[in-house]
Amino acid sequence: MIIAANWKMNLRPCEAQNFFKTWSELNPGQSLKNRSAVFFLPPYYWPLAQSLGLKNLAWGTQNMFSEDFGAFTGENSPVVAKEMGAQWALVGHSERRQLFGETGSFINKKVLKALNLGFKVLLCVGETLEQRQSGLVQDVLDQQLQEGLTHVVPNLHTFIAYEPVWAIGTGLTARQEDITKAHRMIRHRLLSLGFSPETPILYGGSVKPENSSEILSLEDVSGLLVGGASLKPDPFFKILNS
Ligand code: PEP
Repeated sequence: MIIAANWKMNLRPCEAQNFFKTWSELNPGQSLKNRSAVFFLPPYYWPLAQSLGLKNLAWGTQNMFSEDFGAFTGENSPVVAKEMGAQWALVGHSERRQLFGETGSFINKKVLKALNLGFKVLLCVGETLEQRQSGLVQDVLDQQLQEGLTHVVPNLHTFIAYEPVWAIGTGLTARQEDITKAHRMIRHRLLSLGFSPETPILYGGSVKPENSSEILSLEDVSGLLVGGASLKPDPFFKILNS
């Protein structure tokens, strides 16, 4: 099971330091049973992540460009992330799609680049409320998977996060049957694209300690992507151990 934290653009340096200090105190042995924790961090925390040397934790980029280096003002080089110890790349988060206009083909270039450099890729897909209300969940998931995974040779480094946009940061968690149905749709599409039936599908959207174990017990949920509740060590640690 993978429990991933998406810090987004949050936490001051002293808060980030304190987070990991408390984290080590919460878990002195740093053993996480059969859970893996992954932190998706803004670039200014990459040196911190590199210096921590925490065991059983991996970290990744929240965003990275589709080229190694070049005249791309403001972008993050995937090569630098890799050299600093990032193992994961978060791609296609709905905030990148909606606020920064990332298209399916751009997301696909990032997926291909990340895989090519040896990252594990967590590709986010999910529908808006309007799309759900119009009965378009399947179409949206199919299209986002199809576009995001174009020319991707099926592999074991690709992970999917089902994140209904209306559940992100709103406190509205998707109903269990909606999660199960959406994960089935994703599984079906992944199989048709040649991916292994073992490809992990995570759920994200207002996960908190109060609902995490219930969601993790659902059919075909292989982990969680957590935003708000990952900003403090205690709730995130509870989710990790749920
Ligand atoms: C996210 O941003 O990926 C997310 C799931 O956020 P939250 O947990 O705050 O809904």
